[in-house]
Amino acid sequence: MIHVGIGYDVHELVVGRKLILGGVEIPHTKGLDGHSDADALAHAITDAVLGALGEADIGHFFPNTDTRWNGAPSRVFLEEAARQVRLRGGRLVNVDASVIAEAPKIAPHLAAMKIHLAAALGLDPRKVGVKATTNERLGFVGREEGIAAMAVASIDLPE
Ligand code: MG
Repeated sequence: MIHVGIGYDVHELVVGRKLILGGVEIPHTKGLDGHSDADALAHAITDAVLGALGEADIGHFFPNTDTRWNGAPSRVFLEEAARQVRLRGGRLVNVDASVIAEAPKIAPHLAAMKIHLAAALGLDPRKVGVKATTNERLGFVGREEGIAAMAVASIDLPE
């Protein structure tokens, strides 16, 4: 039985943080702020996978009150979501995601992101879609105050 899930995440852009998206460090004047590495793309995909399982969100599995996740690479969240799928006897079919960022240019990093995300999820990189768009200078994304990401995941679960 095919199940789908959706995920969405936003983090604030601040001076003095690394910009990490899809596990890839992207040179920029600002980075995403948050408890972990604040990788909004990895978090959106994690929530999509957990959502497809009908599970609670990333904050339930990795509460930001737990100091173990201070500065944690978001790869551990992706790995845990994929592990939850396997625990149910399921199989991840594919994920697809979009990053919404006004700057910097994301496109040159998409191939590296796909490889990283696929490895964390135990998927073939061809089954990981990552795209990038701007917000046409509108709203908080357009003002470069933050970066958003949305994702869907499809999993095959036994009935
Ligand atoms: Mg997040």
